Amino acid sequence: MVNITNRSGWGARAPRNRSTTTWASRTGFTVHYSAGPPTQTPRQIQNFHMDTRGWADVGYNFLVDQAGNVYEGRGWLVVGAHAAPHNTSHIGVCFIGRDGDATPAAKAAIRGLYDEANRRAGKNLSRSWHGGLSGNSTSCPGADLRSWVRAGMPVSGGTTPAPTPPASARPGTTAPAWPGPILIQPPVRHTQTCRRWQTRMRERGWRITVDGWYGPASERVCRQFQTEKRLSVDGRVGPETWRASWEAPIT
Ligand SMILES: [Zn+2]
Repeated sequence: MVNITNRSGWGARAPRNRSTTTWASRTGFTVHYSAGPPTQTPRQIQNFHMDTRGWADVGYNFLVDQAGNVYEGRGWLVVGAHAAPHNTSHIGVCFIGRDGDATPAAKAAIRGLYDEANRRAGKNLSRSWHGGLSGNSTSCPGADLRSWVRAGMPVSGGTTPAPTPPASARPGTTAPAWPGPILIQPPVRHTQTCRRWQTRMRERGWRITVDGWYGPASERVCRQFQTEKRLSVDGRVGPETWRASWEAPIT
C-alpha cells in the first residue's frame, strides 16, 4: 500500500508539455537519487529541471523523501526524462538525498511503488538502478541504493510499515452514523462515504490513498482490517466494518 502526494499536494508547476506511454510498453522500474541534501523539496527539484535544465517538467515519475513520503512527479504513464533512451519503458523514481541517506522508510516507500507498479502493469517490471541501464554511465543512485536494488529491494519485516497513528485517531469515539451506500467493487465508484472511510483508515495508520474511489487497493485494506478485527471478511465496507473502523482498538 502506498500513499502518493499528488502534484497539487506539493505545489507542482504545470508541465510545458507531456507525452504518455502505456502499461504494455512499461517494462522496467529505475531507482535514482538526487545527490543533494535530503531537505530538498520536490518543487525545488522541479524548478531545477525546468529552469536550469530546460526540461518540460520534473524528470522523474515519482520522488521519495527520507521520511518515506512519496510524491507524484510525472506519474505512472507520462514519459519521464530520467534515463534516456529508457524513458518510455522505465518508470523513474528518485530518492531525495545523497548516497547513504536512504532510510528504511524511504526504501519501503520505493518498494511500495514498485509493488504498486507491478499490480497496475499486471506483470513484474525489471528492477534497475540508473547506472545499470545501457547507455547510462553514472554513479546514480549511489552505492547503498545500488546494492539494495541488486539484492531485490528487500524491506525489513517483508511489509511496508504503517505510520504511527496520531492521538486523534485513537478509539473511544463513537462511529458516525452509517451513511451508506455499502462500499463494494467492481465497478470502482467514487463516494463521499468512501472518502470518509479512507480518511479514517489512514488516521488509524493504514497506508491508503484518500481519493474517494473504492477500488482494489481500498478493498485490500478493507479485507486486511476485517481479518485483523475478526469481522466477516467480504471486502465490503458496510455498517459493521464502518463502526469497527472508528471503535475497534488499534492493534
Ligand atoms: Zn539517476
